[in-house]
This record gives sequence, C-alpha cells and structure tokens, in this order.
Amino acid sequence: MDNLGIMPSMVEEHLEKTLTRVEEEGGIISWKSREDRRQIIHECILAVTRIEKALVERVIPFSYTPAYRFEVPMRMPHPRGGTEVIHLVGEMDITGFRGEEDFFVYDVKHTKNDEYWRKTAAQLTFYALVVEAENGVRPKEVGLFQPLCTEQVKIIEVRDDWRQQMLQRIMSMCNDIWNNDETPRTDYSKCGWCDVKHACVKFRPVMVNGKKMMEL
Ligand code: SF4
Repeated sequence: MDNLGIMPSMVEEHLEKTLTRVEEEGGIISWKSREDRRQIIHECILAVTRIEKALVERVIPFSYTPAYRFEVPMRMPHPRGGTEVIHLVGEMDITGFRGEEDFFVYDVKHTKNDEYWRKTAAQLTFYALVVEAENGVRPKEVGLFQPLCTEQVKIIEVRDDWRQQMLQRIMSMCNDIWNNDETPRTDYSKCGWCDVKHACVKFRPVMVNGKKMMEL
C-alpha cells in the first residue's frame, strides 16, 4: 500500500498504460459510448479514494499481504481408503493478522450493486478455509471492501453450514478427479466465467450439415 494518498492521481496514467498494453498485445478496446471512458475513470478515482479509509483502519497498521497467492495443503479422505494431500490454490486480495490467532481476509469488489455481496459467500468461505488450513484457526474477520456501495465495508459471518458445504464441494471435486470423472455440469450457470471452457467437452465444436458448430 505504498501508494496510499496518491492512488486517485494514478488512475488515468494506469488506465493509459493498460490500454496501450492491450493494444500492443493485439486486443481491441471498444467503449460503450463517448462518456464511457470518462465514467470509468470517475468511478475508479472514486473507488480508490473511498477505499483508503478501510485500508487505514483495517489493514495498514497490521501485518498484511496484498494479492496473496496461495497453495495450501489439506488432507482429505480418499475414496479407496486412507487420506491424501490436496492443495487449495488461488489468490486473496488482502489478508493478514492483527495478533496471534487474529487473521483477516478481504476481497475488493468494484461493484455498485448493494446486493452483490450475497453472491460472494462461497468465495469468502473458501478463503476462510484456506486461512484455517494454513494457520490452524479460522479468521476472525472476513469481508468485502466495496467502495462504490452504500455499505463500503461489508463484514460477512462465514457460517458453519457454509463451511461444511464448501468442504463437501471440495471433497466432491477431489472424488471426481480421483475417479477420472470429467463429466461437465448439466447446467450452464457457471460456464460463462469458466477458465477451462475452451477445453470442456460441453463446448467442443461438432459438425452439423458440414458446418462446425459450437453450443454457447
Ligand atoms: S464450461 Fe466449465 S463450468 Fe461449464 S461444464 Fe464445462 S468445465 Fe464445467
């Protein structure tokens, strides 16, 4: 957080650099309207200005890591007996601790939707499990920094039943992998954002009347 206090003044320059890089890599940038670019800059400046309060109060004075990439081992029961070590892999926006057994995790959301936090239960529960697997204790504070919302800091209580459901989902995924079961989901609700969609059998092109078709 070395840039605290000057983040708002860095927004335009950062956007310019990002746009240049995207174009150099062959990407195409299209704006929704003439006002789109100005609006995005305005909202980014607002977000980084507002988020400073949360950072100063809840993060900066403590030991913390931004963009914390993790690969945390966890032992799970194997369907053919015994246990096996798996790794929980991902990245948290901000995590740290305020003292012994006093860990925190925050995810940053650039949303204006005051109800968006309802969609983050699984993500935050997963992070809480990672903290627990890594440190042996559950985090004391888990939540969102959502500076464009009415409630700019949203603390979420990770309920025991969420934790149990997440463990079951992880277990279920492990079993699928151990059983070489690559059957895709029957519904499409998660496919839009899926990182491996290009390799998924559900989206494999098929020949129809001599034409290559893909279900989207
Ligand atoms: S696209 Fe991704 S989420 Fe959807 S079924 Fe395939 S692997 Fe699962």
